Amino acid sequence: MKFGLKFVVAAAAIAMLATPAMAAKTVKWKLAMTWPSTLTPLASPPAQVAKLVEEMSGGTFIIKAEGKEKHKAPLGILDMVKGGQYQMGHSGSYYWKGKDISTVFFTTIPFGMTTAEQYAWFYYDDGMKYMQQVYDRFNVLNFPGGNTGVQMGGWFKKEINAIEDLKGLKMRIPGLAGEVFAKLGVNVTNIPAGELYTSLDRGTIDALEWVGPGMDIKMGFHKVAPFYYTGWHEPASEMQFLVNKRAYEKLSPEHKAILQTAMKTASADMYYENFAASANAWEQMKTEFPNIKVKTFPVPVLKAMKAASDELLAGYAAKDPQFKEILESQQTFMKKARAWTIISDYNYIKTSIELEQ
Ligand code: CA
Repeated sequence: MKFGLKFVVAAAAIAMLATPAMAAKTVKWKLAMTWPSTLTPLASPPAQVAKLVEEMSGGTFIIKAEGKEKHKAPLGILDMVKGGQYQMGHSGSYYWKGKDISTVFFTTIPFGMTTAEQYAWFYYDDGMKYMQQVYDRFNVLNFPGGNTGVQMGGWFKKEINAIEDLKGLKMRIPGLAGEVFAKLGVNVTNIPAGELYTSLDRGTIDALEWVGPGMDIKMGFHKVAPFYYTGWHEPASEMQFLVNKRAYEKLSPEHKAILQTAMKTASADMYYENFAASANAWEQMKTEFPNIKVKTFPVPVLKAMKAASDELLAGYAAKDPQFKEILESQQTFMKKARAWTIISDYNYIKTSIELEQ
């Protein structure tokens, strides 16, 4: 009996401990993003994922999102997620082109697909398959993380009338587009975001590209460079969610489903947020700064850009079989997707404009 009572007391003590033991099972993750945590809409998807995951899991899965002001390593996100210092990251795939050139396909490429075409390639063609294949070597999972839509070609102090006008032009333009412009004689530079306005104002650079009206308006470029060129180089820039593979595999099936749903919701929402921001900002810019001139590069300039871009892509494809395979997958899908875009969206807009005239 005496032994029995001890046993009951011990069992009761274990039962009392059970509650805190279960609470300790709450999953706590950290996410590092390339952007300052205030730079919306780019910083919106991580914040939204954190909120949705906590709500949907009833507080059993918590993600703490940190901006670059905290971790100070905006271009170290992939390494930090790979190494496990952070379970998640939010960035842009093309920042890793130095590690693997095929990463560019999961952001955007010059003269590539529109947002709708690219999402169709990701989710209903081979995009996700190739994306995982490329990121496998880093031991991370990669998911779409929000799209900017067509980015503008940038702000120029002087009008571009011919290819000659590009020669010696000092411009901030990153990624493959920078490589294209460099081939055409542009003096391509990379300047931190915080110094861009001053550089443009003082003539350290003659032109730059950023995103679109929604984000450009906060930078003030329209006050110092009146020519606003339409886009060709980033037709559908997709952000990315990086997830450490080991951390993901430890999640329960419920938490995995919650995380996936939250990421897909947040990435779709960034596109809507940025679209609305650009529509509003463009209306404001046109009213307050009637001197802004929207221009499209002349056809011979665009043809030279397209030829330089094709040459660049073919060069990478010749050196890298995986790059070649993904490029062909995108090109094949884009051909049929574009045929549909032309008779649907493009014709609808064209018809609407003709009715107004
Ligand atoms: Ca850009």
